[in-house]
Amino acid sequence: MTSTAVVGGGIAGLVAARSAAIRGDDVTLVESSGGLGGRVSSVEVGGVRVDVGAESYASRGTQVSQLVAALGLVEVDPVEGGAWLQLADRAVPLPGMSVLGIPGSPLATDVRAVIGARAAWRAWADRVIPELHVGRETDLDRLVRRRMGDSVLEKLVRPVVDGVYGLDPADADAEALIPGINGALTATGSLSSAVLSLRGGAQAGAAVRGIRGGVHLLADALVDDLRARGVRLLKRTTVDGVRPDGDDWRVSGPAFDERFRHVVIATPGDAARDLLEASVGREIVEGWPDGRDSTVVVLVIDDDRLDDSPRGTGVLVADRVDGAATALTHSSAKWPWLREALPRGRHVLRLSYKDRVAIDVRRAVSDASRLSGVDLRPQDVVGHASRSWRQDVSRAYRGVSGRIDRLRLAVDELDGLSVVGAWVAGTGLAAVVRDAQRPPT
Ligand SMILES: Cc1cc2nc3c(=O)[nH]c(=O)nc-3n(C[C@H](O)[C@H](O)[C@H](O)COP(=O)(O)OP(=O)(O)OC[C@H]3O[C@@H](n4cnc5c(N)ncnc54)[C@H](O)[C@@H]3O)c2cc1C
Repeated sequence: MTSTAVVGGGIAGLVAARSAAIRGDDVTLVESSGGLGGRVSSVEVGGVRVDVGAESYASRGTQVSQLVAALGLVEVDPVEGGAWLQLADRAVPLPGMSVLGIPGSPLATDVRAVIGARAAWRAWADRVIPELHVGRETDLDRLVRRRMGDSVLEKLVRPVVDGVYGLDPADADAEALIPGINGALTATGSLSSAVLSLRGGAQAGAAVRGIRGGVHLLADALVDDLRARGVRLLKRTTVDGVRPDGDDWRVSGPAFDERFRHVVIATPGDAARDLLEASVGREIVEGWPDGRDSTVVVLVIDDDRLDDSPRGTGVLVADRVDGAATALTHSSAKWPWLREALPRGRHVLRLSYKDRVAIDVRRAVSDASRLSGVDLRPQDVVGHASRSWRQDVSRAYRGVSGRIDRLRLAVDELDGLSVVGAWVAGTGLAAVVRDAQRPPT
């Protein structure tokens, strides 16, 4: 029986361990923290268990849906309606027909409500400006500014790209973020038509899905599945060395030292690059851009003025205030199962902040009031929790996808070693799960 070590017990590691166990390997999963699931995690707050890391996944592709079904979980759609955008002086619904904030119909009422009529006409001019840059435009910031003007970039694209991918559009590779955008631009002659053609090809229905009870149930179900398959699960065990040892790999750490035929490195990028350096060489792993820290605050609050979902499923902030929340998810409005699990008038709000910050209840309630449009009171909070996270640098950060390709080529040359996880597969569970299911080369 082939022995396989999986280093890291986030979703990538759990899925890779499951695939190896299904192939018939003798699998050991080694996780440094006291829990499994990594950035898929939950907190018990105000009597309800809610996601404090990932809370949905892209519905494009079927891998997550198939896994969810195989594990006996129930996939659910969020409510229709979508999110809002917080401007300096008002909140408006996020325009519907768009890709990453780039409007397909620049003169539509919902676009004009955000950027104003003059800027909407400037954006519409995209339809008549000849596209002289046929070929690959790498810079999202330049592409949007050139075709549609500053307002579209600042008020529509930046909040979405920053809020969803943690990326400044100036650092974002257009094609890595919106696969097919260059081809569609060349074929249709304008950016807005390219957006319409990409949207036309998209599946009908919600862009994201979730799991009844929360996405954290995916991690719990994977752990149960691995136990049932006889996988050895080691928690609180850090790995700091993965080195070739004859035909095998030696996996070691302060309290662990064993040999395996296969090793799957499934840690976040920083740790993975440290582990890979000995095998692929320093030049492949050095000089990567840093990831970003963020903090999620969950508030459970009694206030029936939230019953009407005043900001749909949540709000992205376009006009940032330093230190204030950058997004609000009205979780109990977004997910019907959560609303049903709560007493009438009780709500779950999830605030996102940049960096690792300590947010007290008063500050969270003040931010939630501004973003929900309801003057909430700290005394109505029945529970709160927060958690800080490190996010890997996005695959769509300029130059990073080329680095990943080089790293993967170097790893593929090494018999018995593979690497999975969000830092190589791309942000988001759909990409992470798909990638972690690939058989080793
Ligand atoms: C706040 C937040 C919200 C998100 N929302 C969404 C969302 O709604 N939809 C979506 O699709 N994605 C979302 N994501 C992204 C998604 O959660 C991640 O892409 C995914 O969970 C990453 O999985 P992973 O296994 O690659 O990494 P991780 O989950 O980080 O797992 C890596 C594991 O390796 C362990 N480890 C690290 N070093 C070592 C070592 N030396 N030895 C042993 N173990 C080690 C870590 O403890 C960790 O458990 C969100 C992420 C965050 C932080």
